[in-house]
Amino acid sequence: MNKKYYITTPIYYPSANFHIGHCYTTIIADSLARYKRLDGYEVLFQTGTDEHGEKIENKAKEAGITPKMYVDEVVSNAIDLWKSLNISYDKFIRTTDKLHEQTVSKIFTKLYEQDDIYKGEYKGLYCTPCESFWTPSQAKDNLCPDCGRELKEVSEEAYFLRLSKYQDRLLEYINSHPDFIEPISRKNEMINNFIKPGLEDLCVSRTSFKWGIPVSFDQNHVIYVWIDALSNYITSLGYLTNNDEEFQKFWPADLHLVGKEIVRFHTIIWPIILMALDLPLPHQVFGHGWLIVNGKKLSKSLGNYKDPREYINKYGVDAIRYFCLREVPFGNDGNFSEESLILRTNADLANVLGNLVNRTIGMAEKYFDGIITNTKVKEDIDEKLIDLAISTKQKVDKNMSELHIADALDNIFEIFRQSNKYIDETTPWALAKDPEKNDRLATVIYNLIESIRFGTVLLQAFLPETSAKIFAQINTDACSFNTLDKFGYYKENTKLGKKEVLFARIEEE
Ligand SMILES: [Zn+2]
Repeated sequence: MNKKYYITTPIYYPSANFHIGHCYTTIIADSLARYKRLDGYEVLFQTGTDEHGEKIENKAKEAGITPKMYVDEVVSNAIDLWKSLNISYDKFIRTTDKLHEQTVSKIFTKLYEQDDIYKGEYKGLYCTPCESFWTPSQAKDNLCPDCGRELKEVSEEAYFLRLSKYQDRLLEYINSHPDFIEPISRKNEMINNFIKPGLEDLCVSRTSFKWGIPVSFDQNHVIYVWIDALSNYITSLGYLTNNDEEFQKFWPADLHLVGKEIVRFHTIIWPIILMALDLPLPHQVFGHGWLIVNGKKLSKSLGNYKDPREYINKYGVDAIRYFCLREVPFGNDGNFSEESLILRTNADLANVLGNLVNRTIGMAEKYFDGIITNTKVKEDIDEKLIDLAISTKQKVDKNMSELHIADALDNIFEIFRQSNKYIDETTPWALAKDPEKNDRLATVIYNLIESIRFGTVLLQAFLPETSAKIFAQINTDACSFNTLDKFGYYKENTKLGKKEVLFARIEEE
């Protein structure tokens, strides 16, 4: 059977100021996608940008250019950032793509024709920066519950999506699909704070700006962000077109990875749109926490903004990836600081992994001119290392399926830590002094190289650049997950590649 995996990040508001928090979500999605590919799945990993709305129209006006010119420029910035982080997305959708615009228009019309969308009058409170409407009961003191800014009162003719009609069905669905919303704290929040008090119909069109997809049968209106943005997950697959093979193959999505601030849209509005379209719901929406700096959200206005490329240039892409994946218990908020990045890089990447590879290759060069032979002089002490290497994939699998990515990485690093311990226990430098122990020494070195290979095969999903460097240094092409079922895929009589420091210890300034 062909195994498929469809994973998405949110489509981001195109900004010139993407910060480390954006990178966090995308690096996690990338590692999940890479892991599934290595595990034999056909993967579709999608990210993109959400490019319509009043805010962008205004920014373009300020800059004296068209909205399309404005978004083209900021989108190229996003694409450049993902490239510098080795993000392996398969599709990058822009909501200004013609196909997307056409399909969203069809979806809106279809929902209107079947009376899931109706025309009414909107009176209420609106937050322009967040592009969110709020009811007076949601907005205390006339302030936006999301950003705390002042709301403005608006009144206009608008189209509405009947959320209320579907609320019982949605609650029933969430209760009968325990994995649909994770973590469970967010699920409870959605049920108790939003669904149970009763859903109000949602305003899904606007007349106060033009930069959006027009309602096909009422050109004064543009389709508001929810239907436009959320539909990206199916428009990109050819939904409602003659060429919908990908849609048939990949929908429903396996995982929508989202920040906690947009869980509500992905677990209430989006499922109801899908129910109205008579489509299956995604298997899971996971709302992760934020990567914050010294307890604060990152933003230019708070003055804690730094372009992630500055960190990448300074510390290397895999130090950044490793920090994001390893430091934050998934689902919770994590704290980012340069000090903790340095600590993490030194402790794990330099002292454990870098040191292991460097020491092992150094000994192989010194004692055997860099040629790895396996003379099979086994001792009991080897078994612990070999058993650990062979049993790790299963542990990593389990943690990855539960999105416990930090734990999965810890499983992999256990091989590296154990290998360092194995060096201390077998004392190769002492063996080297006794010519009769030469064959035992060769076996010890082989076991170390093979253990490094085992860990690196798994590490590829997380740190692709570092893994490629290690494979080159140990000179092996046994890199697939199929080579993890037994110890000994590393070929005897291999000549090692050139030794190179993977991670130098960073001295704090
Ligand atoms: Zn707001």
